[in-house]
Amino acid sequence: MAYDPDNIFAKILRGEIPCNKVHEDEHVLAFHDINPLAPVHVLVIPKGAYESMNDFTAKASDAEIAAMFRAVGALARDLGIAAEGYRFLSNCGGHGHQEVPHFHVHLFGGRPLGRMLSRSAG
Ligand code: 5GP
Repeated sequence: MAYDPDNIFAKILRGEIPCNKVHEDEHVLAFHDINPLAPVHVLVIPKGAYESMNDFTAKASDAEIAAMFRAVGALARDLGIAAEGYRFLSNCGGHGHQEVPHFHVHLFGGRPLGRMLSRSAG
């Protein structure tokens, strides 16, 4: 599937719609999720046009990939959730229930987050 340049995160990157930014560097932007599921819920996205984890890991440079991973770790420390623990995840494609087709990592923390997935969902 071709990258959709009109997805909501592409518009945020272009400054066409606002975000509550918490970090920006050469390769990465991070901002608060508009509909937080935990006291800390931040989205970390590459500046490059990558649709998903599939696309990102196939096409991004080593520098872009390193920047994403380092940003997630640094943000956890900066946001004060590293000591007590946190979760980061990326939904990918249909089975992953990805809604916005620009690669992003969710960073959650600030309360006990429970099990990773519901067992009843199989
Ligand atoms: P996905 O299901 O694709 O992994 O998650 C998309 C996330 O983007 C959701 O948690 C949703 O709340 C968030 N989101 C959708 N639109 C916006 C927006 O315009 N601004 C911000 N900050 N987050 C958004």
